[in-house]
Amino acid sequence: MMDSDTGVSTAPLLGNDEPPAVELVNANGRSSAVLVCDHASNRVPRQLGSLGLDAVQLADHIGWDPGAAGVARQLSTLLDAPLVLSGYSRLVIDCNRPLRSEGSIAEQSDGVAVPGNRGLSPLQRERRINVLFRTYHAAIDRLLDGRTLRPSLLLSIHSFTPVLNSRPRPWHISVSHWRDRRLAALMLGALAHCGDFTVGDNEPYPIDEDVDYTIPVHGEGRGLPSVMIEIRQDGIRTAAGTAAWAARLAEAYRMIEAEALRIPGSSFISPSASGPS
Ligand SMILES: [Zn+2]
Repeated sequence: MMDSDTGVSTAPLLGNDEPPAVELVNANGRSSAVLVCDHASNRVPRQLGSLGLDAVQLADHIGWDPGAAGVARQLSTLLDAPLVLSGYSRLVIDCNRPLRSEGSIAEQSDGVAVPGNRGLSPLQRERRINVLFRTYHAAIDRLLDGRTLRPSLLLSIHSFTPVLNSRPRPWHISVSHWRDRRLAALMLGALAHCGDFTVGDNEPYPIDEDVDYTIPVHGEGRGLPSVMIEIRQDGIRTAAGTAAWAARLAEAYRMIEAEALRIPGSSFISPSASGPS
């Protein structure tokens, strides 16, 4: 279907046979941990083709966080924690970028031009926002709103590329926080006891409200202790690596859970102040 004036498709962004914008796993999980995975998938809605990229580019870290969803799913099982995963590529719309950010619908990423994101009309942009971004964040809001009487700590699971701009990255895993460092400090301390590896403390990615959405809005925005956990992708390329990191994170979480739940805010969640903006 085409609009005769604009030549833009008026068909729904997602066909009936395509996966939903968001997946909710173990919604009634009994853990205090609430897991989210913003960059879980590199799928592109059929209507958008491949955004002008080839399969190798879409499979690379610019399209998603390789391995992150696998770790998040296993962690959800190990902790009996609810998990919300985004269903589509961050290149279609990045669920961890404020809508005002240039990276929301990126015209280039890590030096790769994204032809399918150039010259979008307001309608095309709005459709991605409504169908993908808002749907994903509404699912997180609903999940958290439903837990107002239960203690909750928000863990956002990502992965990062081992080399960026020709620079190798030394950290095997990193824990990042926004203004409130308390949960991050506990996780950093626990991970130090979980094996001999290098842990990034707010690096390679510190959280910035101009760049990040999930932790500032769903975490600290609600007064909820929250961290972003990033695992280096070469550590989670195999099933064994994925299982090992999920097990370490579960162990670290169990070590600090009781203390973390004494952080003010963890035992009561403020209702969502506003929907995604
Ligand atoms: Zn990510």
